[in-house]
Amino acid sequence: MKIIKINTYKEYTIFFWLLLIVIFGISVSKIHSKIQIEKNTKINSTLDNIYLKKTFKEITKNLEPRFTYFEYLSKSGDNYQTIVNKLDISNDEKKDILSSIKDQKNLKVLKINQKFLFKIDNLSEVNVIEFKIETDKKNEIIFTRSKKNKKFASKIIKKNFKKNLVYKETVITKSLYSNAIDIGISPNIIIEFARLYGFQIDFQRDIWKDDSFQIIYEEYTNENKEIVDTGEIIFANLNLQNEDYQLYKHEYEKDKIDYFDESGKSVKKTLMKTPINGARLSSSFGKRKHPILGYTKMHTGTDFAAPQGTPIMASGDGKVTKAGWCGGGGNCVKIKHNSTYQTVYAHMSKFGSGIKKGVRVKQGQIIGYVGSTGLSTGPHLHYEVIENGRKINSQKLKLPSGKILKGKARKKFEVDKIKIDVLKSNLIAKIN
Ligand SMILES: [Zn+2]
Repeated sequence: MKIIKINTYKEYTIFFWLLLIVIFGISVSKIHSKIQIEKNTKINSTLDNIYLKKTFKEITKNLEPRFTYFEYLSKSGDNYQTIVNKLDISNDEKKDILSSIKDQKNLKVLKINQKFLFKIDNLSEVNVIEFKIETDKKNEIIFTRSKKNKKFASKIIKKNFKKNLVYKETVITKSLYSNAIDIGISPNIIIEFARLYGFQIDFQRDIWKDDSFQIIYEEYTNENKEIVDTGEIIFANLNLQNEDYQLYKHEYEKDKIDYFDESGKSVKKTLMKTPINGARLSSSFGKRKHPILGYTKMHTGTDFAAPQGTPIMASGDGKVTKAGWCGGGGNCVKIKHNSTYQTVYAHMSKFGSGIKKGVRVKQGQIIGYVGSTGLSTGPHLHYEVIENGRKINSQKLKLPSGKILKGKARKKFEVDKIKIDVLKSNLIAKIN
């Protein structure tokens, strides 16, 4: 009995302590939240204090670097105004910059891939203190703001770059890309090479081991003979199973450049067969068992497996009619090229910059990146070609070719072609 008594007493004590703890806990949390509220109002009122705000601005200002730089490469569809509008500066300032660009007659025409560099002073009230616009690989125009009248003065600066013409050739033993890298061709040039041949060659199926290629392109070096940039491809030949696919760069009208085969036919077609580089055709057009739905269904496009984030190109010039969610197709882009052809690109991870409904795109322009959105088992591009409203097999498509040079234009091309052939033999003689 005694023992029981002690136990009951013990139980009461526990209950007592428990009660005490609960009460204590409640009051502590009440006090705490009251203090917290007071604290917050105090902090808020302090933050509202205009002087502290100023000081804070001053402090953070000192933490930021004094100068920031904004670099930009012009794209198709840009004009000087759209570029200047990207800067976070006052409208007056924008006007000043635009009018000084307008005064510079070397900047009449804005080309694609022109480099812009703005130097912004974060301390002074007038933000941009200097900016540069590249006119070509060798020259740039620098605009400096005068301290007196705050207007920009411009000056042409010659970059000390030397342009060289480079000849390279190799046999493809591994892949076009890795063999090209092995002989020192820059990735930019390889991408351009693949883009130019993308109209006629399926890189996955048409290239065999021991095929070969030759290429002439421009390379820029600085005073220390280091390669600083690459220019354009002048000539290329892809030899596939002993058949030559040549392309020559040629200015067929003033400031209009294109690539032609040896008979004066433009290598560009209305649509590209493969609107992606370095991809593997993973599922072709036709009946197949759907990898997710499980049943046999018509596959109305061509799938190209490629790593997540691989750029996808517009396969032809046209207007974007959709850039958004397509259900099973995930993020997709639809382009109307002309009254006959439309193309669809599905499962993208994201859209290319500026790609939205109504925007005009150029052939080869990046419209999005490979992903696995919608009904998809892994990163790939689902590509569809629609001809007069019917989905057709893009890989069997016989597309009308672009320009064919005739008459006078053809004669001019033949002269250019001979010049390039002579240049090629000279460059080959140099390496042997
Ligand atoms: Zn597909």
